[in-house]
Amino acid sequence: MYEADITIIGAGVVGLAIAAEVAYGEREVFILEKNQTFGQETSSRNSQVIHAGIYYPEGTLKAKTCVEGNAILYQLCSHYAIDYKRLGKLIVAVDDEEIEQLEALWRRGKRNGIESLEMLSKQDVKQIEPNIRAVAALFSPSSGVVDAHALMRYFLGKARDNGAKIVYKTKVIGIEKEGNNGYKVTSEDQSGNFPFITRVLINCAGLNSDKVAYLAGIDTSKAGYNLHYCKGEYFKLTQGKSKLVKKLVYPVPQPRATGLGIHVTPGLDGKILLGPNARYVDSIDYSVDEQQKEAFCDSVAKFLPIIKYEDLEPEMAGIRPTLQEPNGEFRDFVIRDEHDKGLPGFINLVGIESPGLTSCPAIAKYVGHMVDEALKN
Ligand SMILES: Cc1cc2nc3c(=O)[nH]c(=O)nc-3n(C[C@H](O)[C@H](O)[C@H](O)COP(=O)(O)OP(=O)(O)OC[C@H]3O[C@@H](n4cnc5c(N)ncnc54)[C@H](O)[C@@H]3O)c2cc1C
Repeated sequence: MYEADITIIGAGVVGLAIAAEVAYGEREVFILEKNQTFGQETSSRNSQVIHAGIYYPEGTLKAKTCVEGNAILYQLCSHYAIDYKRLGKLIVAVDDEEIEQLEALWRRGKRNGIESLEMLSKQDVKQIEPNIRAVAALFSPSSGVVDAHALMRYFLGKARDNGAKIVYKTKVIGIEKEGNNGYKVTSEDQSGNFPFITRVLINCAGLNSDKVAYLAGIDTSKAGYNLHYCKGEYFKLTQGKSKLVKKLVYPVPQPRATGLGIHVTPGLDGKILLGPNARYVDSIDYSVDEQQKEAFCDSVAKFLPIIKYEDLEPEMAGIRPTLQEPNGEFRDFVIRDEHDKGLPGFINLVGIESPGLTSCPAIAKYVGHMVDEALKN
């Protein structure tokens, strides 16, 4: 049976970043992707925001990988001509009560290692963004936007240059532990089933990552790995209103919310996106419900009062693979070698929702160390 060193399930931005990190030397590295090309799921259905790392509790993987990923992404983008803009971001308070929350976010951001945050007065905000109505704002200069597709192309190119092979239209349907040699993986393509052995297996299956963990024999309920789908829809502003703001503008986040609140993102393509909202759903469906338009308009008009209902057009939707229950407690990324579950060298990445795009190069380094350890044994 064919033997590989490292197999990565899923060619989204996380799987590709890991492939770029772990492929070198004589290592036989494979990326298996069920779709006909890379980046067809969550990695191409998001806000493309390079987050600073303000929101996440200190010491969590989300906080650490986001802050580190932010710095690495800007270096990669400028070095390899990946389209990006360091726009800066305002989190705006619309009344005095929200100012306290801004201050709490400022302190959290500082604890997470972000030194550049600044509190702005009402007058400062007016000067920077004349169309924004706010009593104060937290300014994050290191937030920006990136072309996620170009980033994925870069990672894939690097991985391939270092010998990794990507196989499309191939779905992993079976995982069995193979003595001390690693895992027998069964993949399925149009011509049938193809079993092979891999020493290290990395689950980057996004919305399917709990199912892939289950395939390997993990009790996902007991492990706390069962994913919920939380849909995020976007509307765009019509062309006449596409220059209303220059920076990213976010509301103060609601406690226990899954998303960060419907925000305003000036994209690299010149469009202004509003969204995403956050609605728990049972199945994957990327349509945009036009009925949501009013809620979007009301929500954004609190800080961008110039917009009207007729300025919004449906744009797209993405689905968060989240571990957080509706109105539940914060959940961190799961990124771990499952040796304590009797599965050494099986590395699970589950619940890689936002800030997964920002975090991906730091996640890749973190997983790279796990891979080095696993290959030693
Ligand atoms: C609405 C929304 C907005 C977001 N905004 C931001 C943002 O602004 N900034 C930010 O940093 N992050 C953001 N995120 C998060 C970010 O998009 C994700 O964290 C990131 O894209 C996850 O990448 P991934 O590679 O883990 O998953 P995916 O891109 O979903 O890739 C997983 C891949 O695995 C493949 N796969 C699944 N099962 C199998 C199988 N059995 N066999 C083979 N292949 C399989 C799938 O086909 C897919 O290609 C947002 C997410 C959403 C939903």
